[in-house]
Amino acid sequence: MHRIADRIEAEAVELAVLGVRDNGTEFNMALKAEPGSAAGTFRYYAEALDKVAGEVAPTQPDVLGLVHRTPVGVVGAIVPWNFPLMIGAWKLAPALAMGNSVVLKPAETASLTLLRLAQICVECGLPDGVFNVVTGSGAETGAALAMSMGVDVLTFTGSGGTGRKLLEASARSNLKRCYLELGGKSPNIVFGDAPDLQKAARVSAMGIFRNSGQVCVAGSRLLVEASVHDEFVALLKAEAEALRVGDPLDLGNQIGAVNSEEQLRRNLSFMDMARAEGGQVITGGARILAETGGSYMAPTIVTHVARDHALFQREVFGPVLSVTKFETEAEAVSLANATDFGLAAGVWTADLSRAHRMVAAIRAGVVHVNTYGGADNTVPLGGVGQSGNGHDKSLHALDKYVDLKTAWIQL
Ligand code: NAD
Repeated sequence: MHRIADRIEAEAVELAVLGVRDNGTEFNMALKAEPGSAAGTFRYYAEALDKVAGEVAPTQPDVLGLVHRTPVGVVGAIVPWNFPLMIGAWKLAPALAMGNSVVLKPAETASLTLLRLAQICVECGLPDGVFNVVTGSGAETGAALAMSMGVDVLTFTGSGGTGRKLLEASARSNLKRCYLELGGKSPNIVFGDAPDLQKAARVSAMGIFRNSGQVCVAGSRLLVEASVHDEFVALLKAEAEALRVGDPLDLGNQIGAVNSEEQLRRNLSFMDMARAEGGQVITGGARILAETGGSYMAPTIVTHVARDHALFQREVFGPVLSVTKFETEAEAVSLANATDFGLAAGVWTADLSRAHRMVAAIRAGVVHVNTYGGADNTVPLGGVGQSGNGHDKSLHALDKYVDLKTAWIQL
Protein backbone atom coordinates (compact mmCIF):
# COMPACT_ATOMS: atom_id res chain seq x y z
CA MET A 1 0.00 0.00 0.00
CA HIS A 2 2.92 2.35 0.64
CA ARG A 3 4.26 1.47 -2.81
CA ILE A 4 0.86 2.32 -4.31
CA ALA A 5 0.91 5.68 -2.48
CA ASP A 6 4.45 6.37 -3.76
CA ARG A 7 3.40 5.59 -7.30
CA ILE A 8 0.30 7.80 -7.15
CA GLU A 9 2.48 10.64 -5.88
CA ALA A 10 5.05 10.09 -8.61
CA GLU A 11 2.33 10.15 -11.28
CA ALA A 12 0.25 12.87 -9.67
CA VAL A 13 0.31 15.35 -12.55
CA GLU A 14 -0.46 12.69 -15.17
CA LEU A 15 -3.29 11.30 -13.06
CA ALA A 16 -4.73 14.76 -12.45
CA VAL A 17 -4.66 15.61 -16.17
CA LEU A 18 -6.25 12.25 -17.04
CA GLY A 19 -9.02 12.90 -14.53
CA VAL A 20 -9.61 16.49 -15.61
CA ARG A 21 -9.98 15.41 -19.24
CA ASP A 22 -12.60 12.95 -18.05
CA ASN A 23 -14.66 15.07 -15.64
CA GLY A 24 -13.76 18.75 -16.15
CA THR A 25 -12.66 19.63 -12.59
CA GLU A 26 -10.29 22.62 -12.48
CA PHE A 27 -6.71 21.28 -12.51
CA ASN A 28 -5.46 22.81 -9.25
CA MET A 29 -8.30 21.31 -7.29
CA ALA A 30 -8.03 17.97 -9.10
CA LEU A 31 -4.31 17.71 -8.34
CA LYS A 32 -4.86 18.21 -4.63
CA ALA A 33 -8.14 16.35 -4.25
CA GLU A 34 -7.55 13.41 -6.56
CA PRO A 35 -3.96 11.98 -6.63
CA GLY A 36 -2.97 14.14 -3.64
CA SER A 37 -5.73 12.84 -1.45
CA ALA A 38 -5.66 9.27 -2.81
CA ALA A 39 -1.96 8.88 -2.04
CA GLY A 40 -2.55 10.15 1.49
CA THR A 41 -5.43 7.73 1.94
CA PHE A 42 -3.33 4.70 0.94
CA ARG A 43 -0.61 5.84 3.33
CA TYR A 44 -3.03 6.42 6.20
CA TYR A 45 -4.54 2.92 5.95
CA ALA A 46 -1.14 1.33 5.33
CA GLU A 47 -0.05 2.81 8.66
CA ALA A 48 -3.32 1.89 10.37
CA LEU A 49 -3.65 -1.76 9.47
CA ASP A 50 -1.24 -3.20 12.06
CA LYS A 51 -2.85 -1.15 14.85
CA VAL A 52 -6.13 -3.04 14.52
CA ALA A 53 -6.35 -6.10 16.76
CA GLY A 54 -8.97 -8.41 18.19
CA GLU A 55 -10.27 -8.38 21.77
CA VAL A 56 -10.19 -10.61 24.78
CA ALA A 57 -13.65 -10.42 26.36
CA PRO A 58 -14.12 -10.18 30.15
CA THR A 59 -15.98 -13.50 30.38
CA GLN A 60 -16.27 -15.79 33.39
CA PRO A 61 -12.83 -17.17 34.40
CA ASP A 62 -13.28 -20.70 32.99
CA VAL A 63 -13.90 -19.38 29.48
CA LEU A 64 -11.68 -17.56 27.02
CA GLY A 65 -13.78 -15.28 24.84
CA LEU A 66 -11.97 -13.86 21.82
CA VAL A 67 -13.40 -11.40 19.35
CA HIS A 68 -11.75 -11.65 15.95
CA ARG A 69 -12.09 -9.14 13.16
CA THR A 70 -12.28 -11.06 9.91
CA PRO A 71 -12.40 -9.79 6.33
CA VAL A 72 -15.91 -9.69 4.88
CA GLY A 73 -14.65 -11.21 1.61
CA VAL A 74 -15.61 -9.33 -1.55
CA VAL A 75 -16.40 -5.62 -1.35
CA GLY A 76 -18.38 -4.06 -4.19
CA ALA A 77 -17.71 -0.32 -4.57
CA ILE A 78 -19.74 2.03 -6.75
CA VAL A 79 -18.50 5.62 -7.07
CA PRO A 80 -19.60 8.86 -8.75
CA TRP A 81 -17.84 11.08 -11.27
CA ASN A 82 -17.01 14.19 -9.25
CA PHE A 83 -13.85 12.91 -7.48
CA PRO A 84 -13.43 9.32 -8.69
CA LEU A 85 -9.86 8.72 -7.54
CA MET A 86 -10.31 10.30 -4.11
CA ILE A 87 -13.60 8.55 -3.37
CA GLY A 88 -12.38 5.29 -4.93
CA ALA A 89 -9.33 5.36 -2.63
CA TRP A 90 -11.53 6.11 0.40
CA LYS A 91 -13.23 2.77 -0.22
CA LEU A 92 -10.42 0.69 -1.69
CA ALA A 93 -7.64 1.43 0.80
CA PRO A 94 -9.49 0.48 4.03
CA ALA A 95 -11.09 -2.54 2.34
CA LEU A 96 -7.66 -3.82 1.25
CA ALA A 97 -6.16 -3.00 4.63
CA MET A 98 -8.69 -5.30 6.28
CA GLY A 99 -7.85 -8.16 3.91
CA ASN A 100 -10.68 -8.00 1.38
CA SER A 101 -10.78 -8.02 -2.39
CA VAL A 102 -12.66 -5.27 -4.21
CA VAL A 103 -14.73 -4.95 -7.38
CA LEU A 104 -15.18 -1.27 -8.18
CA LYS A 105 -17.52 0.31 -10.70
CA PRO A 106 -16.67 3.89 -11.69
CA ALA A 107 -19.24 6.33 -13.07
CA GLU A 108 -19.94 6.28 -16.80
CA THR A 109 -18.33 9.69 -17.37
CA ALA A 110 -15.18 9.31 -15.25
CA SER A 111 -13.36 5.98 -15.18
CA LEU A 112 -9.85 6.63 -16.53
CA THR A 113 -8.02 7.41 -13.28
CA LEU A 114 -9.47 4.34 -11.59
CA LEU A 115 -8.47 2.12 -14.51
CA ARG A 116 -4.95 3.53 -14.18
CA LEU A 117 -5.07 2.93 -10.42
CA ALA A 118 -5.84 -0.74 -11.07
CA GLN A 119 -2.74 -0.98 -13.27
CA ILE A 120 -0.67 0.79 -10.61
CA CYS A 121 -1.85 -1.67 -7.98
CA VAL A 122 -0.77 -4.65 -10.09
CA GLU A 123 2.56 -2.99 -10.91
CA CYS A 124 3.11 -2.46 -7.18
CA GLY A 125 2.62 -6.15 -6.42
CA LEU A 126 -1.05 -6.47 -5.53
CA PRO A 127 -2.03 -9.99 -6.65
CA ASP A 128 -4.23 -10.25 -9.72
CA GLY A 129 -7.91 -10.27 -8.88
CA VAL A 130 -7.63 -8.46 -5.54
CA PHE A 131 -8.63 -5.10 -7.02
CA ASN A 132 -10.89 -5.17 -10.07
CA VAL A 133 -12.40 -2.26 -11.99
CA VAL A 134 -15.50 -3.02 -14.04
CA THR A 135 -16.76 -0.20 -16.25
CA GLY A 136 -20.31 0.09 -17.53
CA SER A 137 -23.62 1.77 -16.93
CA GLY A 138 -25.29 1.99 -13.55
CA ALA A 139 -28.43 0.29 -14.78
CA GLU A 140 -26.52 -2.72 -16.08
CA THR A 141 -23.07 -3.14 -14.49
CA GLY A 142 -23.88 -1.36 -11.23
CA ALA A 143 -27.12 -3.27 -10.85
CA ALA A 144 -25.30 -6.58 -11.52
CA LEU A 145 -22.83 -5.80 -8.74
CA ALA A 146 -25.67 -4.90 -6.38
CA MET A 147 -27.52 -8.13 -7.16
CA SER A 148 -24.42 -10.36 -7.05
CA MET A 149 -24.51 -13.23 -4.59
CA GLY A 150 -20.69 -13.07 -4.53
CA VAL A 151 -20.49 -9.54 -3.14
CA ASP A 152 -20.56 -9.40 0.66
CA VAL A 153 -20.58 -5.65 1.29
CA LEU A 154 -21.56 -2.79 -0.99
CA THR A 155 -19.99 0.61 -0.42
CA PHE A 156 -21.53 3.42 -2.45
CA THR A 157 -21.22 7.13 -3.04
CA GLY A 158 -23.79 8.81 -5.24
CA SER A 159 -27.38 9.94 -5.34
CA GLY A 160 -30.19 8.95 -2.98
CA GLY A 161 -32.21 7.47 -5.84
CA THR A 162 -29.44 4.98 -6.63
CA GLY A 163 -28.92 4.31 -2.93
CA ARG A 164 -32.53 3.20 -2.65
CA LYS A 165 -32.07 0.81 -5.60
CA LEU A 166 -29.02 -0.71 -3.93
CA LEU A 167 -30.97 -1.40 -0.73
CA GLU A 168 -33.68 -3.08 -2.79
CA ALA A 169 -31.11 -5.18 -4.65
CA SER A 170 -29.57 -6.23 -1.36
CA ALA A 171 -32.98 -7.34 -0.09
CA ARG A 172 -33.65 -9.24 -3.31
CA SER A 173 -30.26 -10.99 -3.35
CA ASN A 174 -28.05 -11.94 -0.38
CA LEU A 175 -28.80 -9.20 2.20
CA LYS A 176 -25.33 -7.72 1.68
CA ARG A 177 -24.59 -4.78 3.95
CA CYS A 178 -24.93 -1.45 2.07
CA TYR A 179 -23.03 1.64 3.13
CA LEU A 180 -24.48 4.71 1.45
CA GLU A 181 -22.88 8.13 1.14
CA LEU A 182 -25.44 10.30 -0.56
CA GLY A 183 -26.15 13.88 -1.45
CA GLY A 184 -26.60 17.01 0.60
CA LYS A 185 -28.14 20.47 0.72
CA SER A 186 -25.74 21.79 3.29
CA PRO A 187 -26.48 25.03 5.18
CA ASN A 188 -23.75 27.62 5.55
CA ILE A 189 -24.87 29.95 8.34
CA VAL A 190 -23.47 33.45 8.73
CA PHE A 191 -24.23 35.28 11.97
CA GLY A 192 -23.91 39.03 12.35
CA ASP A 193 -20.98 38.54 14.73
CA ALA A 194 -18.90 36.54 12.21
CA PRO A 195 -15.28 37.53 12.87
CA ASP A 196 -14.36 38.57 9.31
CA LEU A 197 -17.16 38.94 6.77
CA GLN A 198 -14.77 39.41 3.87
CA LYS A 199 -13.02 36.12 4.65
CA ALA A 200 -16.36 34.41 5.23
CA ALA A 201 -17.50 35.56 1.79
CA ARG A 202 -14.33 34.34 0.08
CA VAL A 203 -14.39 30.91 1.75
CA SER A 204 -18.16 30.54 1.33
CA ALA A 205 -17.85 31.31 -2.40
CA MET A 206 -15.31 28.52 -2.85
CA GLY A 207 -17.42 26.32 -0.56
CA ILE A 208 -20.13 26.28 -3.21
CA PHE A 209 -18.47 27.14 -6.52
CA ARG A 210 -15.33 24.93 -6.62
CA ASN A 211 -15.62 22.02 -9.02
CA SER A 212 -18.69 23.89 -10.36
CA GLY A 213 -20.63 22.96 -7.23
CA GLN A 214 -20.19 19.23 -7.89
CA VAL A 215 -19.08 18.53 -4.35
CA CYS A 216 -21.24 16.45 -2.02
CA VAL A 217 -20.53 18.70 0.99
CA ALA A 218 -20.96 21.96 -1.00
CA GLY A 219 -22.39 24.74 1.15
CA SER A 220 -25.30 25.28 -1.20
CA ARG A 221 -27.79 26.91 1.19
CA LEU A 222 -26.57 30.20 2.61
CA LEU A 223 -28.48 31.35 5.70
CA VAL A 224 -27.61 34.92 6.68
CA GLU A 225 -28.61 36.93 9.73
CA ALA A 226 -30.74 39.91 8.67
CA SER A 227 -28.36 42.46 10.26
CA VAL A 228 -25.57 41.60 7.79
CA HIS A 229 -27.62 40.15 4.92
CA ASP A 230 -27.22 42.94 2.38
CA GLU A 231 -23.55 43.57 3.17
CA PHE A 232 -22.66 39.88 3.06
CA VAL A 233 -24.59 39.16 -0.13
CA ALA A 234 -22.81 42.07 -1.84
CA LEU A 235 -19.41 40.70 -0.76
CA LEU A 236 -20.35 37.24 -1.97
CA LYS A 237 -21.60 38.55 -5.31
CA ALA A 238 -18.28 40.31 -5.84
CA GLU A 239 -16.41 37.08 -5.02
CA ALA A 240 -18.57 35.06 -7.42
CA GLU A 241 -18.13 37.52 -10.24
CA ALA A 242 -14.35 37.63 -9.76
CA LEU A 243 -13.95 33.88 -10.23
CA ARG A 244 -12.38 32.89 -13.54
CA VAL A 245 -14.32 30.06 -15.14
CA GLY A 246 -13.02 28.21 -18.19
CA ASP A 247 -10.77 25.49 -19.59
CA PRO A 248 -10.02 23.32 -16.56
CA LEU A 249 -6.47 22.65 -17.78
CA ASP A 250 -5.69 26.39 -17.92
CA LEU A 251 -4.01 27.10 -14.59
CA GLY A 252 -5.35 30.66 -14.64
CA ASN A 253 -8.90 29.42 -14.23
CA GLN A 254 -10.30 28.85 -10.75
CA ILE A 255 -13.40 26.96 -11.86
CA GLY A 256 -13.56 24.34 -14.60
CA ALA A 257 -16.37 22.70 -16.52
CA VAL A 258 -19.65 21.08 -15.55
CA ASN A 259 -19.27 17.31 -15.90
CA SER A 260 -21.67 16.80 -18.81
CA GLU A 261 -24.27 18.51 -20.95
CA GLU A 262 -26.91 16.52 -19.10
CA GLN A 263 -25.74 17.91 -15.76
CA LEU A 264 -25.65 21.45 -17.20
CA ARG A 265 -29.23 21.11 -18.48
CA ARG A 266 -30.28 19.89 -15.04
CA ASN A 267 -28.59 22.89 -13.38
CA LEU A 268 -30.34 25.30 -15.73
CA SER A 269 -33.73 23.70 -15.12
CA PHE A 270 -33.34 24.69 -11.46
CA MET A 271 -32.98 28.31 -12.58
CA ASP A 272 -36.41 28.21 -14.21
CA MET A 273 -37.90 26.66 -11.06
CA ALA A 274 -36.18 29.22 -8.80
CA ARG A 275 -37.46 32.18 -10.82
CA ALA A 276 -40.98 30.75 -10.95
CA GLU A 277 -40.98 30.42 -7.15
CA GLY A 278 -39.91 34.01 -6.53
CA GLY A 279 -36.15 33.59 -6.21
CA GLN A 280 -34.05 36.51 -7.48
CA VAL A 281 -30.99 35.57 -9.53
CA ILE A 282 -28.51 38.31 -8.59
CA THR A 283 -25.58 36.88 -10.53
CA GLY A 284 -25.02 34.05 -13.00
CA GLY A 285 -27.95 31.75 -13.69
CA ALA A 286 -26.86 30.91 -17.23
CA ARG A 287 -24.58 28.90 -19.44
CA ILE A 288 -21.37 30.69 -20.39
CA LEU A 289 -18.55 30.13 -22.89
CA ALA A 290 -20.87 28.16 -25.19
CA GLU A 291 -18.64 29.16 -28.12
CA THR A 292 -15.88 26.91 -26.73
CA GLY A 293 -18.09 23.85 -27.07
CA GLY A 294 -17.60 23.17 -23.35
CA SER A 295 -20.24 22.86 -20.63
CA TYR A 296 -19.73 25.87 -18.36
CA MET A 297 -22.08 27.60 -15.95
CA ALA A 298 -21.53 30.96 -14.30
CA PRO A 299 -21.32 30.95 -10.49
CA THR A 300 -24.89 31.68 -9.50
CA ILE A 301 -26.52 33.31 -6.46
CA VAL A 302 -30.27 33.29 -5.90
CA THR A 303 -31.72 35.38 -3.05
CA HIS A 304 -35.23 35.39 -1.55
CA VAL A 305 -35.35 31.60 -1.36
CA ALA A 306 -37.95 30.29 1.08
CA ARG A 307 -37.90 26.96 2.90
CA ASP A 308 -40.54 25.40 0.65
CA HIS A 309 -38.73 26.33 -2.60
CA ALA A 310 -37.18 23.59 -4.73
CA LEU A 311 -33.84 25.38 -4.54
CA PHE A 312 -33.94 25.18 -0.75
CA GLN A 313 -34.93 21.51 -0.60
CA ARG A 314 -33.28 19.79 -3.57
CA GLU A 315 -29.64 19.17 -4.36
CA VAL A 316 -28.63 20.85 -7.63
CA PHE A 317 -25.04 19.54 -7.70
CA GLY A 318 -24.10 22.67 -9.65
CA PRO A 319 -22.63 26.16 -8.99
CA VAL A 320 -25.85 27.50 -7.52
CA LEU A 321 -26.14 29.13 -4.09
CA SER A 322 -29.52 29.83 -2.51
CA VAL A 323 -29.75 32.64 0.05
CA THR A 324 -32.27 32.83 2.90
CA LYS A 325 -32.46 35.49 5.61
CA PHE A 326 -32.98 34.72 9.31
CA GLU A 327 -33.55 36.83 12.44
CA THR A 328 -32.65 34.61 15.41
CA GLU A 329 -30.41 31.69 16.29
CA ALA A 330 -33.46 29.47 16.79
CA GLU A 331 -34.71 30.34 13.32
CA ALA A 332 -31.25 29.58 11.88
CA VAL A 333 -31.33 26.11 13.46
CA SER A 334 -34.85 25.49 12.25
CA LEU A 335 -33.94 26.49 8.67
CA ALA A 336 -30.68 24.50 8.78
CA ASN A 337 -32.54 21.33 9.72
CA ALA A 338 -35.48 21.86 7.37
CA THR A 339 -34.42 19.44 4.62
CA ASP A 340 -34.26 15.63 4.38
CA PHE A 341 -30.46 15.81 4.08
CA GLY A 342 -27.79 15.93 6.78
CA LEU A 343 -24.34 15.90 5.25
CA ALA A 344 -22.42 19.07 6.13
CA ALA A 345 -22.87 22.57 7.54
CA GLY A 346 -20.93 25.76 8.23
CA VAL A 347 -21.30 28.28 11.04
CA TRP A 348 -19.64 31.69 11.11
CA THR A 349 -19.62 33.35 14.53
CA ALA A 350 -17.20 34.87 17.04
CA ASP A 351 -19.25 33.52 19.94
CA LEU A 352 -17.69 30.25 21.13
CA SER A 353 -20.74 29.20 23.12
CA ARG A 354 -22.97 29.73 20.12
CA ALA A 355 -20.55 27.73 17.94
CA HIS A 356 -20.85 24.76 20.30
CA ARG A 357 -24.65 25.14 20.51
CA MET A 358 -24.87 25.11 16.71
CA VAL A 359 -22.62 22.05 16.38
CA ALA A 360 -24.96 20.24 18.76
CA ALA A 361 -28.19 21.48 17.16
CA ILE A 362 -27.46 20.98 13.45
CA ARG A 363 -28.28 17.60 12.02
CA ALA A 364 -25.24 16.85 9.88
CA GLY A 365 -22.22 14.58 9.60
CA VAL A 366 -19.80 17.50 9.81
CA VAL A 367 -20.20 21.08 11.03
CA HIS A 368 -17.44 23.52 10.02
CA VAL A 369 -16.94 26.54 12.25
CA ASN A 370 -15.44 29.75 10.84
CA THR A 371 -14.42 27.93 7.69
CA TYR A 372 -16.16 25.85 5.08
CA GLY A 373 -14.86 22.50 3.84
CA GLY A 374 -11.53 21.17 4.95
CA ALA A 375 -10.89 17.74 6.38
CA ASP A 376 -8.19 15.09 6.45
CA ASN A 377 -7.97 11.33 6.77
CA THR A 378 -8.21 11.38 10.56
CA VAL A 379 -11.88 12.39 10.61
CA PRO A 380 -14.88 10.52 9.17
CA LEU A 381 -17.02 11.80 6.32
CA GLY A 382 -20.62 10.68 6.10
CA GLY A 383 -24.12 11.90 6.56
CA VAL A 384 -27.25 11.42 8.61
CA GLY A 385 -30.86 11.31 7.43
CA GLN A 386 -31.14 10.91 3.69
CA SER A 387 -27.49 11.82 3.25
CA GLY A 388 -26.57 8.26 4.06
CA ASN A 389 -25.54 5.74 6.66
CA GLY A 390 -21.86 5.03 6.09
CA HIS A 391 -18.61 6.83 6.76
CA ASP A 392 -15.51 6.98 4.63
CA LYS A 393 -12.11 7.94 6.08
CA SER A 394 -10.69 7.67 9.60
CA LEU A 395 -10.25 4.46 11.60
CA HIS A 396 -14.07 4.11 11.70
CA ALA A 397 -14.12 3.23 7.97
CA LEU A 398 -12.22 0.01 8.74
CA ASP A 399 -15.28 -1.33 10.58
CA LYS A 400 -17.27 -1.39 7.33
CA TYR A 401 -14.98 -4.01 5.87
CA VAL A 402 -14.78 -6.53 8.73
CA ASP A 403 -17.06 -9.06 10.33
CA LEU A 404 -16.85 -9.83 14.04
CA LYS A 405 -16.33 -13.49 14.94
CA THR A 406 -16.42 -14.79 18.50
CA ALA A 407 -14.33 -17.72 19.71
CA TRP A 408 -15.83 -19.11 22.97
CA ILE A 409 -13.29 -21.51 24.42
CA GLN A 410 -14.04 -23.60 27.50
CA LEU A 411 -10.87 -23.85 29.54
P1 NAD B 1 -25.52 8.46 -9.28
O1 NAD B 1 -26.20 7.83 -8.13
O2 NAD B 1 -26.30 8.74 -10.51
O3 NAD B 1 -24.30 7.56 -9.75
C1 NAD B 1 -23.30 7.13 -8.85
C2 NAD B 1 -22.80 5.75 -9.30
O4 NAD B 1 -23.88 4.82 -9.21
C3 NAD B 1 -22.31 5.72 -10.74
O5 NAD B 1 -21.20 4.85 -10.84
C4 NAD B 1 -23.50 5.11 -11.48
O6 NAD B 1 -23.15 4.45 -12.66
C5 NAD B 1 -24.01 4.14 -10.44
N1 NAD B 1 -25.41 3.74 -10.63
C6 NAD B 1 -26.41 4.48 -11.18
N2 NAD B 1 -27.55 3.75 -11.19
C7 NAD B 1 -27.28 2.55 -10.64
C8 NAD B 1 -28.04 1.38 -10.35
N3 NAD B 1 -29.32 1.28 -10.67
N4 NAD B 1 -27.42 0.33 -9.73
C9 NAD B 1 -26.14 0.40 -9.39
N5 NAD B 1 -25.34 1.48 -9.66
C10 NAD B 1 -25.91 2.54 -10.27
O7 NAD B 1 -24.85 9.77 -8.72
P2 NAD B 1 -23.95 10.81 -9.56
O8 NAD B 1 -24.86 11.71 -10.29
O9 NAD B 1 -22.87 10.12 -10.32
O10 NAD B 1 -23.21 11.56 -8.36
C11 NAD B 1 -23.75 12.67 -7.78
C12 NAD B 1 -24.31 12.34 -6.42
O11 NAD B 1 -23.31 11.77 -5.56
C13 NAD B 1 -24.78 13.59 -5.71
O12 NAD B 1 -26.00 13.34 -5.07
C14 NAD B 1 -23.68 13.82 -4.68
O13 NAD B 1 -24.06 14.59 -3.58
C15 NAD B 1 -23.30 12.44 -4.32
N6 NAD B 1 -21.98 12.41 -3.66
C16 NAD B 1 -21.91 12.10 -2.33
C17 NAD B 1 -20.68 12.08 -1.68
C18 NAD B 1 -20.58 11.74 -0.20
O14 NAD B 1 -19.49 11.48 0.27
N7 NAD B 1 -21.66 11.70 0.55
C19 NAD B 1 -19.52 12.38 -2.39
C20 NAD B 1 -19.63 12.70 -3.74
C21 NAD B 1 -20.88 12.70 -4.37
